[in-house]
Amino acid sequence: MDGIPVDVFGRPMGALRISLTDRCNLRCRYCMPEEEYAWLPREDLLTFEEIERLTEAFVSLGVDKVRLTGGEPLLRRGLPELVRRLAGLPGVKDLAMTTNGVLLAKHAEQLREAGLHRLTISLDTLRPERFSALTRRGTHPDVLAGINAAVATGLTDLKIDTVVMRGFNEDELVDLIEFGKNMSAEVRFIEYMDVGGATGWTPEKVFSRKEILETLAQEYGPAEELRKTDAAPADRFVLPDGTVFGIISSTTQPFCATCDRSRLTADGMWLRCLYAMTGTDLRTPLRDGASLDDLRDLITGIWQQRRDRGAVERIGQRARGQVFVSLENLKRDPHLEMHTRGG
Ligand code: SAM
Repeated sequence: MDGIPVDVFGRPMGALRISLTDRCNLRCRYCMPEEEYAWLPREDLLTFEEIERLTEAFVSLGVDKVRLTGGEPLLRRGLPELVRRLAGLPGVKDLAMTTNGVLLAKHAEQLREAGLHRLTISLDTLRPERFSALTRRGTHPDVLAGINAAVATGLTDLKIDTVVMRGFNEDELVDLIEFGKNMSAEVRFIEYMDVGGATGWTPEKVFSRKEILETLAQEYGPAEELRKTDAAPADRFVLPDGTVFGIISSTTQPFCATCDRSRLTADGMWLRCLYAMTGTDLRTPLRDGASLDDLRDLITGIWQQRRDRGAVERIGQRARGQVFVSLENLKRDPHLEMHTRGG
């Protein structure tokens, strides 16, 4: 059982995204629109020791990129301690976090000191009134302060992720590129996806990769695509003025063929696809005393059976008018929610 496990379609196991909590301090309409949910039971949440142990198993099999997400990862108490543990695992070459930035000003310095390598901050709009309408919270100034704090602490390789939605923020693409330039951050535009809590999703609201490129070309001239060097989801482009930005076109041009990612929910459910309907419970074997070798065998065996191509299959299902998950099923199983599986 040597080497990185490879799935049925020849895709090696690569990046691991770990959700630290299903709770969030925003209520974005495209992700977590309700105030109350069926939350994961507290006692089911993996402890830092358990997260470290599982990460160790993945890393020992060749996973070298780990991203902390949620829910909102900064809501997890004592987070720098977890970052310190994971950054200290030999084999973790890239330890990143995705956050909405609301609590970042308070934590940026500690996270850098603890060994976090990279940070991605979600920011869909530069306009406070739009932010409040989208997130149902008035914390836009906190997000901007968080971004400034991240820059000030010297956390390099900063990214800003923007979900582009027609009729909401497609008129801000140039403003966001300019904001990114000022912050020395790379902006990545994400196509709106019909996952989990995106219950208001319609095809008309998707502002496509093609449209994003056309909009930016009107202002800057045509962007040139950069050659891809890894299995990361973003395609990267350079504008005539040298600015680099990314597009994650999960809806119109899914990247399932090269997807090497899997996700661990805060309660230890391992999902091999963002669109997967079921996962594997790794918490139970862990709490039952599985050894590192047992965990490695379990993970390897399951990865070798992986056939998921969720985003590609969704294109066909959508064309037949199927919704991804009904509201009823979302209410029944919190694992189907985007905020539980981690974006
Ligand atoms: N709370 C953190 C944050 O806001 O970055 C991490 C979790 S959040 C689920 C991760 C990312 O998923 C965010 O950038 C968010 O915009 C994105 N996301 C959530 N729902 C989405 C959807 N329906 N389509 C596209 N991106 C989505």
